Amino acid sequence: MGNNVIAFVQCHDGEIKRTQLEAVSEGARIANALGGGCVAVVMGSGAADAAAGLGRYGARTARAIGDAAVAHYNGDIYGRTVAALAREHDAAVIVASATAAGKDLCPRVAAHLEAGYAADATGVRVEDGKLLVTRPVYAGKALIDVGFESDVAVVSLRPNNFEVSEGEGSAEVSEAQPVLEGPSAKVLETRQTAGERADLTEASIIVSGGRGMKGPEHFQLLEELADVLGATVGASRAVVDAGWRPHSDQVGQTGKTVSPKLYIAVGISGAIQHIAGMRTSGCIVAINKDPDAPIFKIADYGIVGDLFEIVPRLTEELRKVLQN
Ligand SMILES: Cc1cc2nc3c(=O)[nH]c(=O)nc-3n(C[C@H](O)[C@H](O)[C@H](O)COP(=O)(O)OP(=O)(O)OC[C@H]3O[C@@H](n4cnc5c(N)ncnc54)[C@H](O)[C@@H]3O)c2cc1C
Repeated sequence: MGNNVIAFVQCHDGEIKRTQLEAVSEGARIANALGGGCVAVVMGSGAADAAAGLGRYGARTARAIGDAAVAHYNGDIYGRTVAALAREHDAAVIVASATAAGKDLCPRVAAHLEAGYAADATGVRVEDGKLLVTRPVYAGKALIDVGFESDVAVVSLRPNNFEVSEGEGSAEVSEAQPVLEGPSAKVLETRQTAGERADLTEASIIVSGGRGMKGPEHFQLLEELADVLGATVGASRAVVDAGWRPHSDQVGQTGKTVSPKLYIAVGISGAIQHIAGMRTSGCIVAINKDPDAPIFKIADYGIVGDLFEIVPRLTEELRKVLQN
């Protein structure tokens, strides 16, 4: 077993999102602690362009796979390719951001390599040469440290939980070929649902609405607040079940796990299943007319009152401050 670390990086038209840089920086930190190097495996359209700058984030080597077969995420081909490169580079650890693609990819890579897998890590450290991963359990109520019995470890990293470190380094970039042999689903099309806003799992600010919004038409209030803050709009399950917002907006145990710097919960009671998806947010602000709403127990700042009065005033004040 070697001591190198593979950091998986997904790109689109040569662009890389911040969460992917988190994986490279964390991969480099782990590699340093293990005495190896970080190899960024960059897949998607424009991979060669994207790979060129990854040395600044700690990658010693970058392998670019920009073949047409990987232009859209395909778990079969991506899984085989990352596993093959992990073998080629004698990797001890494979990390990827726990985005939708990363969550699909990691277990596949672990199966190919017969490696242990720790999902949704909020912390990773090396002690006495061994990898230890901290991850939330019991709907986020507790944290556990997980070790590995296998020689190789695969870890997905909760987005927005790991620092991006930028320096002066440069990576040796070379192309690699995707592993196309073997059964594979054919991806015909990938549709963008998030519009112009960042995906919920990657957003640094989220404004979420609950049943207290009273109807889909009132989400316009949250859209306006989100526009001022550069935020993404989320929702509770009650809202999604009522058909007010699509399921892709749902935050919680049966929706998305998010970890933005700022989470504003508007008219959301704070049921355990909702909290499971957002409790690791950096700063939680709750707006609710019920002073006993459970959301206030985990909120850093709470505003007790009618959201229909508070949200428009908040938007107006923030607009004055942020747009001047
Ligand atoms: C297996 C399972 C999985 C689940 N998964 C999820 C999940 O992934 N995500 C999720 O969110 N839920 C999930 N739930 C549902 C969860 O238990 C709650 O039912 C749900 O989160 C409640 O949504 P809510 O807070 O919007 O609604 P409510 O609980 O009805 O709360 C509405 C809140 O709005 C406040 N309010 C009302 N009017 C106003 C006003 N004018 N101004 C200010 N505040 C106001 C009220 O005081 C209240 O606190 C799951 C449940 C189960 C059983």
